[in-house]
Amino acid sequence: MAFELPQLPYDMNALEPHISKRTLEFHYGKHHKAYVDKLNSLVEGTAQASKSLEDLIRESEGGVFNNAAQVWNHTFYWNGMSALGGGEPSSALKSELEKNFGSVEEFKNQVTNQGLGLFGSGWTWLIKDSDGSLKIHNESNAGNPLRVGKTPLLTVDVWEHAYYLDYQNARKGYLDNFWNLINWQFIEDNLEKS
Ligand code: MN
Repeated sequence: MAFELPQLPYDMNALEPHISKRTLEFHYGKHHKAYVDKLNSLVEGTAQASKSLEDLIRESEGGVFNNAAQVWNHTFYWNGMSALGGGEPSSALKSELEKNFGSVEEFKNQVTNQGLGLFGSGWTWLIKDSDGSLKIHNESNAGNPLRVGKTPLLTVDVWEHAYYLDYQNARKGYLDNFWNLINWQFIEDNLEKS
């Protein structure tokens, strides 16, 4: 069974005006698809072809790791946004964020600042640590917190290809607008499963 490109959870224009249809056509239709295709070409005919993406993320190296993680990371990123996103988290999630970050605003500030501070390409994550605490965690390139035993709850793609067509070099504009799209329910669902 080859790895497949999961369906985007909304229409290509659903995230406008914050993320354009044109960005999603390239980011999902070209970049995400290319990681799936490359992973399949790398594992074809090997024992890795029958592993899960999560196993490949935890155990593999080099090109297989990079492409498996990029497939997983993008799917997770799409699901962390919604056309009906933004606004305020539920009172339960709000309490959880206040307990860990002081306030929802401070949580947002930390994500934005870590995303701005990530040099080059990578991903800014909200993770649940082994002691149960929530933290912001940066990973470079294809990095994924599963590899270091953390539970991912949300991710923001800070590779330039995520924002260049809409924001050019202004990563901050992209990160500021991410809060208009955030799918709070996705964080809650991941917390519940963790
Ligand atoms: Mn990307």
